[in-house]
Amino acid sequence: MPQLAELHAGIAARVEAIRQGRPDWPCARGCDRCCRQLADLPRLTRVEWLLLKEGLAALSPERREEIRQAVATLGGKPPRPVTCPLLEQTTGACPVYLQRPVACRTYGFYLQRGLGLYCGDIKARVAAGTWADVVWGNQDAVDRLLAGQGENRSLAEWFADEDMAGGKA
Ligand code: SF4
Ligand code: SF4
Repeated sequence: MPQLAELHAGIAARVEAIRQGRPDWPCARGCDRCCRQLADLPRLTRVEWLLLKEGLAALSPERREEIRQAVATLGGKPPRPVTCPLLEQTTGACPVYLQRPVACRTYGFYLQRGLGLYCGDIKARVAAGTWADVVWGNQDAVDRLLAGQGENRSLAEWFADEDMAGGKA
């Protein structure tokens, strides 16, 4: 997945540049409000899904089954806001952090034309005049790159495909 790895590296570099010199940046393990207030289930391209499955494979069979059931319970069109069915409810951690979708990597650090920043906490600090000098990432450019990588499906659709193929994720 070289293209995806390059995209991840570019995002990581932008995130690092933004965080540098800003030790009070709020994104940290356990800050899970974004994972609990999704506009919809995470969407992934096939290469992102293949990577996510590597993360799922490293979890215990019991945890994988819990996740599979949580995805099935939410269904294809869950009411908003959606809590990500992957989220560790007690710790607020992502169990597939290293394999998480691109959208989870850019959240809080990338701007989308017409929509701006997504995270309310970060928006509030920007509105208060903090971080006026931040060079935000370009979400539209990321979306264009992902669009060039073929089909993009919701987590529920990828899990359903996997179940139909008899290879539970
Ligand atoms: S994007 Fe917002 S809610 Fe998500 S980790 Fe960062 S500060 Fe927390
Ligand atoms: S995949 Fe991980 S980082 Fe992304 S919304 Fe779900 S729990 Fe949060």
